[in-house]
Amino acid sequence: MTMRLKGKVAIITGAAAGIGRASAELFAGEGASVAAVDLDVAGIQGLAQEIRAAIGDVLAVRADVSKAEDVQQAVHSTLERFGRIDILFNNAGIVPRGKIHAISEAEWDHVMAVNLKSIFLFCREVIPVFLRQGEGVILNTSSATALRSVPDRLAYSTSKGAVLSLTRSMALDHVRDNIRVNCLCPGTVDTPSFRQRMAAFPDPEEALRQFVARQPMGRLGTAGEIAHAALYLVSDEARFVTGVAFPIDGGMAI
Ligand code: NAD
Repeated sequence: MTMRLKGKVAIITGAAAGIGRASAELFAGEGASVAAVDLDVAGIQGLAQEIRAAIGDVLAVRADVSKAEDVQQAVHSTLERFGRIDILFNNAGIVPRGKIHAISEAEWDHVMAVNLKSIFLFCREVIPVFLRQGEGVILNTSSATALRSVPDRLAYSTSKGAVLSLTRSMALDHVRDNIRVNCLCPGTVDTPSFRQRMAAFPDPEEALRQFVARQPMGRLGTAGEIAHAALYLVSDEARFVTGVAFPIDGGMAI
């Protein structure tokens, strides 16, 4: 094993499932100590058991990433346990459907809070830590929908477009602070939440066939494939990379 993250401490949000879980497993396998943050307590405890049994050190932190107090507590617990933070992977997110006239104000506020405000809240806590340490890496999960529109995802796409702008602005603001900030733009990835979205269609199997048919590669991505892109961007191998929106989408953005 190469141990590309040996000695690093990584906070990963949305770590109980999908892309976050695959990243937590991969980062731990590469030597990182992982603070696994999620609302789903059973999910992060299961992940923590699995990581401890197999490879590495992990802290399971229950937090709602859209709540300032929870975020402060998550960062505090991470520092208390591991003494530093090297990597912040803001990955938690929700994917609601809807055209503009079908979205309630509460739904709009909720998706912006979970997908966008959460990143503001975490970065606001972690940037001072990085400035004290003299280094740090942030990775945000945006989406292919920030680069190329898809139908019926208005609030979601808007939140992910803002994640891209936030990423670039922060990258520039901190380019001389030895702090890198990048985002991933995944295409359609086969995760638990994707399966739930399919299940909500009147004919889930037909909906899945249509999603797969519109993929240039004729298949969905896997959480592990996204996690490997994340690993590169948070590792020292990407030390000259900042402010990028990295499409990993089987050709969707072409
Ligand atoms: P997932 O639903 O499988 O996992 C997301 C995790 O985030 C879950 O464990 C969930 O409990 C957690 N979470 C949700 N709201 C939270 C909150 N308020 N506080 C703390 N945790 C919360 O989803 P996924 O498909 O792995 O998605 C991860 C990220 O990737 C999201 O930001 C999503 O928008 C993005 N993304 C997914 C796809 C896809 O096709 N799956 C494509 C592009 C981008």
